[in-house]
Amino acid sequence: MEKPRYYFPTERDTADLEFSDLGFDYLACPYRFEAVFEHGLWRSRGLQEDNVMHIPEGSQCLHYGQQLFEGMKVHRGPEGKIYAFRPRDNAKRLNSGARHLRGPEIPEALFLRGLEEVVQGNHPYVPPHGSGASLYVRPFYLGIGDNVGVKPASRYVFRIFVSPVGPYYKGGFGPDQGKGFMVSKHDRAAPHGSGHIKAGGNYAASFYPGTEAKKAGFADAIYLDPVNRKYIEEVGAANFLAFKGDALITPQSPSILKSITRLSLLEIAGEIFKWPAEEREIAVDELDEISAAACCGTAAVITWINRIVDGERSWEFPFDERWQQLYNTLLGIQTATQDDPFGWRYEIPTMGS
Ligand SMILES: *Cc1c(COP(=O)(O)O)cnc(C)c1O
Repeated sequence: MEKPRYYFPTERDTADLEFSDLGFDYLACPYRFEAVFEHGLWRSRGLQEDNVMHIPEGSQCLHYGQQLFEGMKVHRGPEGKIYAFRPRDNAKRLNSGARHLRGPEIPEALFLRGLEEVVQGNHPYVPPHGSGASLYVRPFYLGIGDNVGVKPASRYVFRIFVSPVGPYYKGGFGPDQGKGFMVSKHDRAAPHGSGHIKAGGNYAASFYPGTEAKKAGFADAIYLDPVNRKYIEEVGAANFLAFKGDALITPQSPSILKSITRLSLLEIAGEIFKWPAEEREIAVDELDEISAAACCGTAAVITWINRIVDGERSWEFPFDERWQQLYNTLLGIQTATQDDPFGWRYEIPTMGS
């Protein structure tokens, strides 16, 4: 890497923050990466200081939801090296969304360069190893322009901001951290719609059912498949997981957002622990036969589900030690305290490495 451009030698090399007390909140870091698409070309605008964006009022992202986002975490290993986790998978998922929204794909090299630059530029904000915190990375994609008609944009902005974060749920993960969820009467996605892409509109549509669930005292809503309203589909903005006997099972449906955390846990279960691991339809009625439930995503990693309520019916699930094993292994790989047999870690080059 080049000589330091942004920070000069001082006694500290990390920001003066109580990293171990952070919640899952936005904290404006000094730099964000930006690129623009115009005249058929992507070009980098490098790191920017302003966390307020200046875009045309007619922009498609503002009126018609032509927008996508991603979420990733960056961790510091025991030797101070900085690692992202499977970022190429996030780039691929963002591009499948871009195709669906009829916008240009982002070259993988641009995605990775933006990730490296924004993490390098904000390196004093990457939480120290062992603090329990990480650097949350939020890439996003906006269709912009001077427009009023319902059609895809011809200009786009791709931006990545970062924020140091602590656990998604205060208290983090563990046998005293069970959460209850309520099966919603609303759907998050239409059959053959856009539930499989990380487009902002899907999440605006979840605020009503999500707020309803929280008012009733639950952590979030569980969504059923929009065709039959029979199978479990998503848990808030996380994928559902369960143990049925020896097997780790997780829903299969075209309207699910395919979690990279889930994909990783399925591989860890199958390859490391040799547990049967299967993607398949899981009916609500099948909860009677399930011994443990959880949900997963980048933000919370794994959340133990101790209770599910569906109208008059309810189910209780004990903490299962296997959630702990999966959690420890995934976090061990992400934080480089454990081998990375799958090649998932992506080292961000920093000064002196
Ligand atoms: C982002 C997201 C997830 C989790 O995906 P990860 O890649 O594991 O972070 C699950 N469900 C929904 C609806 C999501 O938006």
